[in-house]
Amino acid sequence: MRIVLVGPPGAGKGTQATRLAETLHIPHISTGDLFRANISQQTELGKLAKSYMDAGNLVPDEVTIAMAKDRMEQPDAEGGFLLDGFPRNVSQAEALDELLETEDMKLDAVLDLEAPEDEVVKRIAGRRVCRNDSAHVFHVTYTPPKQEGVCDVCGGELYQRDDDSEETVRKRLEVYHTQTEPIIDYYKSQGLVATIAATGPVDEVTRRALEALKRDQ
Ligand SMILES: [Zn+2]
Repeated sequence: MRIVLVGPPGAGKGTQATRLAETLHIPHISTGDLFRANISQQTELGKLAKSYMDAGNLVPDEVTIAMAKDRMEQPDAEGGFLLDGFPRNVSQAEALDELLETEDMKLDAVLDLEAPEDEVVKRIAGRRVCRNDSAHVFHVTYTPPKQEGVCDVCGGELYQRDDDSEETVRKRLEVYHTQTEPIIDYYKSQGLVATIAATGPVDEVTRRALEALKRDQ
Protein backbone atom coordinates (compact mmCIF):
# COMPACT_ATOMS: atom_id res chain seq x y z
CA MET A 1 0.00 0.00 0.00
CA ARG A 2 1.16 3.51 -0.77
CA ILE A 3 -0.05 5.91 1.86
CA VAL A 4 0.39 9.58 2.66
CA LEU A 5 -0.16 10.64 6.26
CA VAL A 6 -1.20 14.25 6.84
CA GLY A 7 -2.01 16.09 10.04
CA PRO A 8 -1.21 19.22 12.05
CA PRO A 9 1.69 19.35 14.50
CA GLY A 10 0.58 17.73 17.75
CA ALA A 11 -1.85 15.27 16.14
CA GLY A 12 0.49 12.35 16.90
CA LYS A 13 1.48 11.85 13.27
CA GLY A 14 4.94 10.43 13.99
CA THR A 15 3.61 7.90 16.49
CA GLN A 16 0.82 6.76 14.17
CA ALA A 17 3.18 6.58 11.20
CA THR A 18 5.51 4.22 13.09
CA ARG A 19 2.65 2.00 14.25
CA LEU A 20 0.89 1.86 10.88
CA ALA A 21 4.12 1.13 8.97
CA GLU A 22 4.91 -1.72 11.36
CA THR A 23 1.45 -3.24 11.10
CA LEU A 24 1.34 -2.93 7.32
CA HIS A 25 4.98 -4.05 6.83
CA ILE A 26 5.92 -1.04 4.75
CA PRO A 27 8.72 1.46 5.38
CA HIS A 28 7.92 4.69 7.19
CA ILE A 29 9.47 7.45 5.11
CA SER A 30 9.65 10.75 6.98
CA THR A 31 11.27 13.88 5.60
CA GLY A 32 13.10 14.36 8.90
CA ASP A 33 14.76 10.94 8.53
CA LEU A 34 15.49 11.53 4.84
CA PHE A 35 17.30 14.77 5.61
CA ARG A 36 19.25 13.27 8.50
CA ALA A 37 20.26 10.18 6.47
CA ASN A 38 21.34 12.13 3.38
CA ILE A 39 23.28 14.65 5.44
CA SER A 40 25.05 12.06 7.60
CA GLN A 41 25.93 9.92 4.55
CA GLN A 42 27.07 13.09 2.76
CA THR A 43 25.18 12.29 -0.42
CA GLU A 44 25.09 14.98 -3.13
CA LEU A 45 21.51 15.79 -2.13
CA GLY A 46 22.49 15.85 1.54
CA LYS A 47 25.30 18.32 0.86
CA LEU A 48 22.95 20.46 -1.18
CA ALA A 49 20.27 20.42 1.54
CA LYS A 50 22.85 21.28 4.18
CA SER A 51 24.11 24.28 2.22
CA TYR A 52 20.59 25.75 2.28
CA MET A 53 20.07 24.92 5.94
CA ASP A 54 23.44 26.35 6.99
CA ALA A 55 22.51 29.59 5.24
CA GLY A 56 19.25 29.63 7.21
CA ASN A 57 17.13 28.98 4.12
CA LEU A 58 14.38 26.47 3.40
CA VAL A 59 15.46 23.44 1.39
CA PRO A 60 13.86 23.79 -2.08
CA ASP A 61 11.08 21.34 -3.01
CA GLU A 62 13.19 19.80 -5.82
CA VAL A 63 15.79 18.62 -3.31
CA THR A 64 13.18 17.10 -0.97
CA ILE A 65 11.46 15.42 -3.91
CA ALA A 66 14.71 13.95 -5.20
CA MET A 67 15.47 12.51 -1.73
CA ALA A 68 11.98 11.02 -1.53
CA LYS A 69 12.40 9.52 -5.00
CA ASP A 70 15.69 7.84 -4.04
CA ARG A 71 14.10 6.40 -0.93
CA MET A 72 10.97 5.14 -2.70
CA GLU A 73 13.21 3.27 -5.17
CA GLN A 74 14.85 1.20 -2.41
CA PRO A 75 13.93 -2.52 -2.49
CA ASP A 76 12.07 -2.42 0.83
CA ALA A 77 9.61 0.10 -0.64
CA GLU A 78 8.57 -2.18 -3.48
CA GLY A 79 5.42 -3.30 -1.69
CA GLY A 80 4.51 0.24 -0.69
CA PHE A 81 5.44 2.94 1.79
CA LEU A 82 4.00 5.40 4.21
CA LEU A 83 5.01 9.03 3.64
CA ASP A 84 5.14 11.33 6.66
CA GLY A 85 5.91 15.02 6.27
CA PHE A 86 5.94 14.81 2.48
CA PRO A 87 4.21 16.19 0.48
CA ARG A 88 3.70 19.29 2.60
CA ASN A 89 2.33 21.63 -0.04
CA VAL A 90 0.36 21.33 -3.29
CA SER A 91 3.38 21.70 -5.57
CA GLN A 92 5.09 18.78 -3.77
CA ALA A 93 1.88 16.76 -4.11
CA GLU A 94 1.82 17.43 -7.84
CA ALA A 95 5.49 16.47 -8.12
CA LEU A 96 4.79 13.25 -6.22
CA ASP A 97 1.95 12.40 -8.63
CA GLU A 98 4.26 12.93 -11.60
CA LEU A 99 6.93 10.83 -9.99
CA LEU A 100 4.54 7.97 -9.28
CA GLU A 101 3.13 8.17 -12.77
CA THR A 102 6.55 7.71 -14.37
CA GLU A 103 6.95 4.56 -12.22
CA ASP A 104 3.44 3.45 -13.16
CA MET A 105 2.33 3.68 -9.52
CA LYS A 106 -0.58 5.25 -7.68
CA LEU A 107 -1.31 6.29 -4.12
CA ASP A 108 -3.83 4.07 -2.33
CA ALA A 109 -4.88 6.41 0.45
CA VAL A 110 -4.28 9.72 2.16
CA LEU A 111 -4.95 9.60 5.89
CA ASP A 112 -5.88 12.98 7.33
CA LEU A 113 -5.41 13.05 11.11
CA GLU A 114 -7.75 15.61 12.60
CA ALA A 115 -7.46 17.09 16.05
CA PRO A 116 -9.06 20.24 17.49
CA GLU A 117 -6.65 23.17 17.53
CA ASP A 118 -6.93 23.79 21.26
CA GLU A 119 -6.10 20.17 21.94
CA VAL A 120 -2.96 20.11 19.81
CA VAL A 121 -1.80 23.31 21.48
CA LYS A 122 -2.40 21.72 24.88
CA ARG A 123 -0.57 18.54 23.84
CA ILE A 124 2.53 20.35 22.64
CA ALA A 125 2.66 23.26 25.10
CA GLY A 126 2.34 20.81 28.02
CA ARG A 127 5.44 18.83 26.99
CA ARG A 128 8.42 18.88 29.33
CA VAL A 129 11.79 17.45 28.36
CA CYS A 130 14.69 16.39 30.57
CA ARG A 131 17.90 18.44 30.32
CA ASN A 132 19.99 15.27 30.65
CA ASP A 133 18.26 13.21 27.96
CA SER A 134 15.75 14.44 25.39
CA ALA A 135 14.20 10.95 25.30
CA HIS A 136 12.85 11.55 28.82
CA VAL A 137 9.61 13.32 27.92
CA PHE A 138 6.68 14.16 30.21
CA HIS A 139 3.43 16.07 29.92
CA VAL A 140 2.09 18.30 32.67
CA THR A 141 -1.43 16.87 32.25
CA TYR A 142 -1.19 13.47 30.52
CA THR A 143 2.03 11.96 31.88
CA PRO A 144 3.14 14.20 34.76
CA PRO A 145 6.39 13.41 36.58
CA LYS A 146 6.03 12.32 40.21
CA GLN A 147 7.63 15.57 41.30
CA GLU A 148 6.95 18.76 39.35
CA GLY A 149 9.91 19.86 37.22
CA VAL A 150 11.99 16.75 37.99
CA CYS A 151 12.67 13.81 35.65
CA ASP A 152 11.36 10.47 37.00
CA VAL A 153 14.08 8.56 35.16
CA CYS A 154 17.26 10.37 36.14
CA GLY A 155 16.32 13.26 38.44
CA GLY A 156 17.29 15.85 35.81
CA GLU A 157 15.59 19.21 35.42
CA LEU A 158 12.55 19.31 33.14
CA TYR A 159 12.03 22.27 30.82
CA GLN A 160 9.85 23.42 27.95
CA ARG A 161 11.63 23.59 24.59
CA ASP A 162 11.29 26.87 22.66
CA ASP A 163 9.69 24.86 19.83
CA ASP A 164 6.95 23.75 22.21
CA SER A 165 5.88 27.19 23.44
CA GLU A 166 2.25 28.06 22.74
CA GLU A 167 3.30 30.97 20.51
CA THR A 168 5.50 28.73 18.33
CA VAL A 169 2.82 26.03 18.14
CA ARG A 170 0.24 28.59 16.96
CA LYS A 171 2.69 29.76 14.29
CA ARG A 172 3.34 26.19 13.12
CA LEU A 173 -0.42 25.58 12.94
CA GLU A 174 -0.81 28.72 10.84
CA VAL A 175 1.82 27.43 8.39
CA TYR A 176 0.06 24.05 8.33
CA HIS A 177 -3.32 25.68 7.53
CA THR A 178 -1.98 27.84 4.72
CA GLN A 179 0.55 25.47 3.11
CA THR A 180 -0.27 21.86 3.92
CA GLU A 181 -4.03 21.76 4.38
CA PRO A 182 -4.71 22.60 0.70
CA ILE A 183 -3.25 19.19 -0.25
CA ILE A 184 -6.24 17.58 1.46
CA ASP A 185 -8.60 19.17 -1.07
CA TYR A 186 -6.15 18.24 -3.82
CA TYR A 187 -6.33 14.57 -2.79
CA LYS A 188 -10.08 14.73 -2.09
CA SER A 189 -10.58 15.49 -5.77
CA GLN A 190 -8.84 12.14 -6.41
CA GLY A 191 -11.11 10.39 -3.91
CA LEU A 192 -8.16 9.34 -1.75
CA VAL A 193 -8.79 11.02 1.61
CA ALA A 194 -9.90 9.24 4.78
CA THR A 195 -10.35 11.57 7.74
CA ILE A 196 -9.30 10.06 11.07
CA ALA A 197 -10.21 11.58 14.43
CA ALA A 198 -6.83 11.81 16.16
CA THR A 199 -8.27 12.21 19.65
CA GLY A 200 -8.40 9.66 22.45
CA PRO A 201 -6.00 6.79 23.17
CA VAL A 202 -3.17 6.15 20.68
CA ASP A 203 -4.36 2.53 20.11
CA GLU A 204 -7.82 3.74 19.24
CA VAL A 205 -6.48 6.19 16.63
CA THR A 206 -4.39 3.41 15.03
CA ARG A 207 -7.44 1.14 14.94
CA ARG A 208 -9.50 3.85 13.20
CA ALA A 209 -6.77 4.38 10.62
CA LEU A 210 -6.42 0.67 9.86
CA GLU A 211 -10.18 0.32 9.50
CA ALA A 212 -10.33 3.24 7.09
CA LEU A 213 -7.60 1.60 4.97
CA LYS A 214 -9.52 -1.68 4.91
CA ARG A 215 -12.68 0.11 3.76
CA ASP A 216 -10.71 1.71 0.93
CA GLN A 217 -9.49 -1.55 -0.54
ZN1 LIG B 1 15.99 12.46 32.68
